[in-house]
Amino acid sequence: MAHVNEHYLKLAAGYLFPEIGRRVSSYAEAQPDADLIRLGIGDVTEPLAPALVAALRAACDEMGSAEGFRGYGPENGYDFLVDAIREHDYRERCVEIAADEIFVSDGSKQDSGNIQEILAPECRIAVTDPVYPVYVDTNVMAGRAGAPDDEGRYGGILYLPATEANGFFPDPPAQGAADVVYLCSPNNPTGSVASATALGRWVEWALASDALVVFDAAYAAFIQDPALPRSIYEIPGAERCAVEMRSFSKRAGFTGLRCAYTVIPKAVTGATSSGERIPLARLWNRRHATKFNAVPYPIQRAAEAVFSPEGRKQTREQVAFYMENARLLREGLGAAGFRVFGGEHAPYIWLEVPERGSSWAFFDRLLEGAQVVGTPGAGFGPAGEGYFRLSAFNSRARVEDAIHRITTNFG
Ligand SMILES: *Cc1c(COP(=O)(O)O)cnc(C)c1O
Repeated sequence: MAHVNEHYLKLAAGYLFPEIGRRVSSYAEAQPDADLIRLGIGDVTEPLAPALVAALRAACDEMGSAEGFRGYGPENGYDFLVDAIREHDYRERCVEIAADEIFVSDGSKQDSGNIQEILAPECRIAVTDPVYPVYVDTNVMAGRAGAPDDEGRYGGILYLPATEANGFFPDPPAQGAADVVYLCSPNNPTGSVASATALGRWVEWALASDALVVFDAAYAAFIQDPALPRSIYEIPGAERCAVEMRSFSKRAGFTGLRCAYTVIPKAVTGATSSGERIPLARLWNRRHATKFNAVPYPIQRAAEAVFSPEGRKQTREQVAFYMENARLLREGLGAAGFRVFGGEHAPYIWLEVPERGSSWAFFDRLLEGAQVVGTPGAGFGPAGEGYFRLSAFNSRARVEDAIHRITTNFG
């Protein structure tokens, strides 16, 4: 008999975005003329930058010629892309990463979900609360968690509340309290960003606890202050305890093209039950080579073009455009009396629901009163209750209209 993986049955039934979709479509059915503004799901809205489209076209032409055709690529990525990443994402920040420490993939969602496969089932996981749900759900699927409690916290997972008091970026727990921690900075959903000091405390904790930090830097390009760390490897010691994930999705509009990468320095190791140290890069390489057959050549050429002079300029302008949307949301809603967080180094605004009320009730009020769709904080974890996420991914006109509608309905 083909038994199912029953760990899947522990997953909370109503996943956030389907539930939002259900409420939005039932509202749209009842109000077919309603003009909805969607600031909910974290997907980019600007078209691909021209330099990227040109690179994609040129690579497609190459593929259609006898000399230029390419089949399976190297599973960890073509040298041209790996070298561009090393140069621009790391060397320019004074971080040296070797070519064989970079693993190009088709997404950070996949990478942050798959990394747990190379870890023992007994590893104790810690996450921030609220959290990007992928980190939790993939560990539940792998059997590292018990059933969820009434508030949706899975047994066996350590939740670290991200609150106004800690700037929405929690400090480490007691030494040895977890084996693996997932951190995301700039943060989805809260829009917070970790300082070098805050990351330093985590690196120190991980080294003292012999723990692993999984650092998701999908929004690194949105950091406005050059003094803030873009990579965890800007913190000394991180090259011994952290893996890092970066994505072209938000920084360059690749949510539909699909390209990302994971960095695993050689000095990052895990222990066997007999105490032998195994480099995690070795296991990840083995996994990648077995289960993945490389990102398509034209997509990698488009990713390379993100680092060309025109590509950099154009994608920086896109990021600046979204960040201006974020500033307008932050300041417009702030001026109307809302308490707003985030949005300075991340494309997300974390809004306090008036009176810290129910985030799902606020979702319904915003949908029905202002025809604006956002994301209830409770969907990202119990500590997200009382908050609401708005994304800066939309046109300027729609963002301005959303601010106007929200402030006239709730101001
Ligand atoms: C969007 C996002 C990613 C990127 O996912 P891709 O699979 O690369 O598109 C990763 N982590 C977080 C927290 C995100 O919000």
